[in-house]
Amino acid sequence: MSLFVLRDKHSFSSGRMPTMLIKTLLNQCYPIKGFVYGDQVRLEGKSVVVNIQHRKNSRGLCPQCREPSPGYDRLKERRYRFVPLWGYLVEFLYTARRVQCPRHGIVVEFLPWADGKSPITQPFKLFLVHWAKRLSWKGAPP
Ligand SMILES: [Zn+2]
Repeated sequence: MSLFVLRDKHSFSSGRMPTMLIKTLLNQCYPIKGFVYGDQVRLEGKSVVVNIQHRKNSRGLCPQCREPSPGYDRLKERRYRFVPLWGYLVEFLYTARRVQCPRHGIVVEFLPWADGKSPITQPFKLFLVHWAKRLSWKGAPP
């Protein structure tokens, strides 16, 4: 069950799915401005876990005014559910920064994929809404 526990493209010859493939898929379906998918993709039970890092030398954005602000400290690493893939749960791991905005003080940086403290990513929310609508439509009485 270590399909995704790979560090580089050289692992491809072993018949395992390389991290690069997962990163390529994510970069194509959900690129995140200011952030990169990290070098760790691993399988934990039925979850594909992908770490996210902010781009080097990038400043975190204030969630209120979206101004790049100096870093203050970092929070604990958190998980965010993304759209499932091939029957596997997909989770992002990210350690958010707190920034010191000149106007709004010390705040947790803006995360494009998350809404406040929600552990569900925006794409996964849309995915759920889409299927909820379809199911309720199909289940509606004639
Ligand atoms: Zn601000």
